[in-house]
Amino acid sequence: MRCAAVTLSSLLLLACGDDVSSATSSDDSGGATSGTTGSTDASTSEASTSSTTQAADDSSGSADESSTSGEAGAPLEFAKDIRLDRLTVNQATQVTVVDGGVEVPGAEYNTRVISGRRTLVRGFWSLHANFEPREIVGRLTIEYPDGTQVEQDFEQFVDGESSDGAGASSFQWLLEPEEVVPGMTFRARLLEPAGTEAPGELSDPPPIAPLAGPGTLELYDVPLQIRVVLVPVQHEFEGCTQAPDITDEDITAMRQELEQNNPVQQALFEVREPMVYTETIGNAPGFSPLLQALAQARAEDDPDPSVYYYGLVDPCDGYPPGLLGQAIAIAGPPTQNNGQERVSTGRWNGSGAAAAETFVHEVGHTQGRRHVRCSGGEAGIDAAYPHAGGRIGVWGFGIYDFELRSPSGGRDYMTYCSNEWVSDYSWEFTLEVIETLTGFDLEGTTPTDDVVLAGLIHEDGSAGWWTQRGHVDPDLALGTARFETPRGLVETIASVQPVPHGHNARYVQIPLPENARSMSAVELSAPGTSLRVGAESIRTIR
Ligand SMILES: [Zn+2]
Repeated sequence: MRCAAVTLSSLLLLACGDDVSSATSSDDSGGATSGTTGSTDASTSEASTSSTTQAADDSSGSADESSTSGEAGAPLEFAKDIRLDRLTVNQATQVTVVDGGVEVPGAEYNTRVISGRRTLVRGFWSLHANFEPREIVGRLTIEYPDGTQVEQDFEQFVDGESSDGAGASSFQWLLEPEEVVPGMTFRARLLEPAGTEAPGELSDPPPIAPLAGPGTLELYDVPLQIRVVLVPVQHEFEGCTQAPDITDEDITAMRQELEQNNPVQQALFEVREPMVYTETIGNAPGFSPLLQALAQARAEDDPDPSVYYYGLVDPCDGYPPGLLGQAIAIAGPPTQNNGQERVSTGRWNGSGAAAAETFVHEVGHTQGRRHVRCSGGEAGIDAAYPHAGGRIGVWGFGIYDFELRSPSGGRDYMTYCSNEWVSDYSWEFTLEVIETLTGFDLEGTTPTDDVVLAGLIHEDGSAGWWTQRGHVDPDLALGTARFETPRGLVETIASVQPVPHGHNARYVQIPLPENARSMSAVELSAPGTSLRVGAESIRTIR
């Protein structure tokens, strides 16, 4: 891997080129060829500095005016023989906000940019033929509705054209979450460092963007959070007892991976008391019997509908072959009544950092995401996914690891390929889900009193049944169920969904009407599924 590290607001920006290790295919792009070999450090550029001042002085900008420094007051001249063509912002997936010097209206952003999230701003230039390589100062000026102004200077040694890919070939400014608020405007300038006699000519127009005046960063300003309960699975099997010991560091690793890949301001984590599990895991038909136990634990705990349960397991008898994790279902559109679909599990692998990638994928299923085709091994793929080969399609950026991911080197996290990252498509998809669930948290929830009979049919044909809160959408229910009660048959609908990563495992939900609670048995009939369940094998939780 080639990386160039740039100190940025005292943090490290890792710009890993397109040659980022593998993925199944790799072509691309982007211009990483100038990268230095041997990973980190290398072409280190100067730290950016920032200052806050009261608005006033210049800005508003006729393009021909020279800029003034915010703090020292020493005016810097526009840089010569260079143009500032393009500005992008990146919270995980890149959005162009100035193109050819012209502001891109918010309605034309390729994805929404959210408020209250760390944001990387980058500036890209083009050079006149006789540009002489030297330090150039990139100055980003942000103005806020309350009249405050922030300036950040980023010094960059310019000795060639800029590019999205190579580490030190753009101006880079980092905005912290509290600096990303509605109504903010932005404008960037390229300037000669103080005290230098610059050669060359000023371009026409000079290097300032947007050209016409400060641009407005259009922000999607709603609260966005994800709530997760981590469930350490205490496996007790054949004389062995094992449970992950989840430390603060582990939680941080999992939280950051989830936050990096999801449009949120924050993810909130709790660690539940361990859930004792005494069946085989390594020889079990997938994780579905464990998902059954987790779903029952969630039904008993009865958390808010928005809450995701994720089991972390370090089994006594190994893992199901080929499985890293599993979700109970591809959740439907989020409602207050389908919280029980937000259950999944995965391998602990010894640490939160090692568990994090699978965690993001499995939570993705419970956000309603299907697989994205890349390796060819993915089943149940999302036909609407827009980029061939599962590519992420636009430049990615990690708000915690400061890595750039190339459009063709990164793969959507719902693929089975490596270099997993969030695509523009995933960002928009999950934003809808997250906004809805966060709304439930803020409004106060009124979950349904309706009860469903839930079941998991495992790979080997065995099954577990229990009652929980829930609601079955008639449009999605292709099956029927008949309850045998003392007063006769009660007929209703039934939903049977494949369990992701399962070959034949299915998740069943049947509305359990009041007049069927005295049943002696239920008969289920759905495409590919026909069975009878006696009341004695149903665990009553609700
Ligand atoms: Zn999957």
